[in-house]
Amino acid sequence: MATTRRWVYFFGNGKADGKGDQKELLGGKGAGLAEMTRIGLTVPGGFTITTEACAAYNDRGQKWPVGLEKQVRQMIAKLERTTKKKFGGGKNPLLVSVRSGAAQSMPGMMETILNLGLNDQSLEALATASNSLRFALDAYRRFIMMYGATAKGIDRGLFDEAFDRLKDTTTRNRLGRDRNEKVIDTDVSAEELSKLVDTFKDIYRERCGQDFPQNPMEQLRGAISAVFDSWMFDKAVTYRRVENITGLKGTAVNVCQMVFGNMGDDCGTGVCFTRDPSTGECVFYGDLLINVQGEDVVAGVRTPVPLAELKTLMPDVYRQLEAVRVMLEVHYKEMQDLEFTIERGKLYMLQCRTGKRSPQAAFKIAVDQATQKLMTTAAANRLVRRKFLPKKYATAASKPIITKEDAIRRIHAADVERLFYPVLDPNLTRDELDTRLVTEGIGAVPGAACGEVAFSATRAEKRAQTGAEVVLVRKETSPEDVGGMHAASGVLTATGGKTSHAAVVARGWGKCCIVGCDSLSIDYDAKQMRVEDHVIREGDTITLDGATGRVFEGATDLVRPKAPKEYQTLMNWCDAHRRLGVRTNADTPADAARAVELGAEGIGLCRTEHMFFDPKQPERIRSMREMILAEDEEARRKALEKLLPFQTSDFEGIFRAMNGKPVTVRLLDPPLHEFLPQADNPGGVQDVVDELRAGGKDVTPEDIIRRVEQLHEANPMLGHRGCRLAIAFPEILEMQVCAIIDAAIRCVKDGIKVFPEIMIPLSIDPKELGILVEHTREIADAMIKDRGVKLKYLVGTMIETPRAALLSGPIAGVSDFFSFGTNDLTQFTMALSRDDAGRFLPDYVDEDKAGVFGDDPFQSLDIEGVGKLVRMACRDGRSEKSNLKLGICGEHGGDPKSIFFCNEAGLDYVSCSPLRVPIARLAAAQAAIA
Ligand code: ADP
Ligand code: MG
Ligand code: MG
Repeated sequence: MATTRRWVYFFGNGKADGKGDQKELLGGKGAGLAEMTRIGLTVPGGFTITTEACAAYNDRGQKWPVGLEKQVRQMIAKLERTTKKKFGGGKNPLLVSVRSGAAQSMPGMMETILNLGLNDQSLEALATASNSLRFALDAYRRFIMMYGATAKGIDRGLFDEAFDRLKDTTTRNRLGRDRNEKVIDTDVSAEELSKLVDTFKDIYRERCGQDFPQNPMEQLRGAISAVFDSWMFDKAVTYRRVENITGLKGTAVNVCQMVFGNMGDDCGTGVCFTRDPSTGECVFYGDLLINVQGEDVVAGVRTPVPLAELKTLMPDVYRQLEAVRVMLEVHYKEMQDLEFTIERGKLYMLQCRTGKRSPQAAFKIAVDQATQKLMTTAAANRLVRRKFLPKKYATAASKPIITKEDAIRRIHAADVERLFYPVLDPNLTRDELDTRLVTEGIGAVPGAACGEVAFSATRAEKRAQTGAEVVLVRKETSPEDVGGMHAASGVLTATGGKTSHAAVVARGWGKCCIVGCDSLSIDYDAKQMRVEDHVIREGDTITLDGATGRVFEGATDLVRPKAPKEYQTLMNWCDAHRRLGVRTNADTPADAARAVELGAEGIGLCRTEHMFFDPKQPERIRSMREMILAEDEEARRKALEKLLPFQTSDFEGIFRAMNGKPVTVRLLDPPLHEFLPQADNPGGVQDVVDELRAGGKDVTPEDIIRRVEQLHEANPMLGHRGCRLAIAFPEILEMQVCAIIDAAIRCVKDGIKVFPEIMIPLSIDPKELGILVEHTREIADAMIKDRGVKLKYLVGTMIETPRAALLSGPIAGVSDFFSFGTNDLTQFTMALSRDDAGRFLPDYVDEDKAGVFGDDPFQSLDIEGVGKLVRMACRDGRSEKSNLKLGICGEHGGDPKSIFFCNEAGLDYVSCSPLRVPIARLAAAQAAIA
């Protein structure tokens, strides 16, 4: 007999075939269920069908792979034995839930089907066993609806309408309630539910063309196939695209014995976090619904009560749950997000996974876990005495559960980025805000957002594409809305708690979100929402304050928040661990100061050309243009003399802001035509003529056009730029070196430390560079000697052409440092222009198209190719000059993956834009401890 693949993994009765680290194979949910079972928690029994089975199913054109059917039957038989129940029949019917679950949490796939196995027969048995016909009927009507809607694609609204109709006529009449009084689900009698079940079956028959299946195996097959199919649903595919999730095989399917949270007041169901996911505080946090079946909590259909109430309602269950909290957090060493159900006073765990959290919470949790205990020793011991908690977990909970290195590893670049998302300007007075207050809900994700209202995900996406800031407003969100939520700056929902779909998804992105805004009534058809008689229409601007849950009318000033103290702590740990220095690319004193605040240890790239464009000082660009139009050296020198004081004061400002930290100043890099208008732009040419005339220089439009034409190059990127300008016009270099050294000397004389590093761009040859370095030194040394000060400076070059990398040994001979300009180095190495590559490069990155590169080589350094040049240049450069300083100043300096490479290649520092500095500090530390 040929052996078939193993497609199923059992869990139950304290044993599990699978393990927590098999997420790829069992999905996150399946791995969690297996692991919880293994460590001794009470999990209803069941089995997981692997992601490989899903892949095989989709590969075979939606057919079950060989052996799956048989293995599923065997598992059901095993489950029947362990639970002593019979699937869909007998006196004590076994019912199951069928749940999807990929390796990464992924809204968008099929929703869970509960109560599978119910049919006309097992309905009777369940009624007898539970001693409540009403309960059994309620389970049955839920099952028909869920099966019909999620497995067979019937519009859920049809079922909802039928139920509403019943409540509004039959039930209302029986109770004699008038129009204004609400009739709720629990008012509906068993008899009425029985009618509803018939109606639901009719709907099913009408839509599917066949009767609702009575055979439990047939139901199960249908549900499992539907989960497999849902892997390819548009919304699931969209989510994977938006979240950049690649390389997963498919979803696993979990078939799990049903437990009931709706059998009375000693039952309930809930969701909790081992720590507060929005603040990170070390408290047990969650939502609970009494006498309710699971999906109601997650769907946010009803607003639940805080978990703490369980303490008074069912004290023992609460303590058990506290023990679960300790066990799972200690076991996973991570904050967990848990789902549970209480059936007649007995606690069952249904899910655990690493909890999503706000960026503030990410830092607080990581730092707390590395420095504090999870629970006081006394409290932990109390749980041990009551036999809820094994001793070893109590011991572990009484000290930090992770190391500082773990804490550093735990933080993601995105956490850092999101930490600085905007908040309401704290200078706004409460009164000012109060006058614009529309309503208040539950602040689910802190931060603020301000934008125009969109009532549908599609609209939000469309408007955001045009550059508009959008706030997506929904009654509740569902996986179909994910695209719109992603495009929006903030999300507002009328229903739901902190664990609703909207809250969970938004929290994952650190996106401002307010939920449970009960007073809000939204009319999708009229495209408006109202709070009492206050109406807000689609397109109107509103502001959300996720920290307080308040919603305001109109636009509001938003500012960047102050980081929590745990951020500082963690960043200090990063600094202590990293080997790479972190500098910034900054051209102005303000940018430089901001970067220092964020932890920059120097400037790795100060571009001088931006300084010529200051619109407040038109003399700058005028003198620059005079210089370019000059007919001979003398005229050029005259124009340069006018530029000198501007450059000197700019450099002085930056040196002062950096206060002794090294500053790498790059000499003029772009080709000169960039400072002139296009020849075929008469308006632009005339502007320049007017401007130069205003400065006392008589020129004609023809003069300008002639010069522009002279400067024209077929390929400016490969043209007269970089140090080639200094070879042709040494006086430009002279002026810039004078400005740098003069500014430095002024600082020294004022008692301010300075450390300038003069950087020569685009070199291709040691002789070329040698000429320029020597010239630079002559000027600088003469000035220093002349002014009688002590000033150290360096002269180095950028390695941004392949030839420079190839000749890095001899080039190091005349250079104090190398800075890898990886933007240009990537362009030249790949013969790819960054400006035009957008037309075809995406295909090279797209896995489904060509998948040549894992990442866009302009975002993440091409380690194989460009990286090889970098490594070689480092090696050859250092063997020529052992103390050669090495850095990187391209965009890649702020990209975590590229930073890992730089660490490994032995660079001394990375330089990135000011806002990426904290990310670079983090990545450098992570690289050092990897
Ligand atoms: P999601 O992926 O949306 O978290 P789940 O598969 O966890 O979906 O199911 C949603 C909810 O359904 C659970 O939180 C739980 O309340 C309920 N549920 C799932 N399986 C069972 C079960 N075997 N018994 C009782 N309730 C269940
Ligand atoms: Mg769940
Ligand atoms: Mg360059």
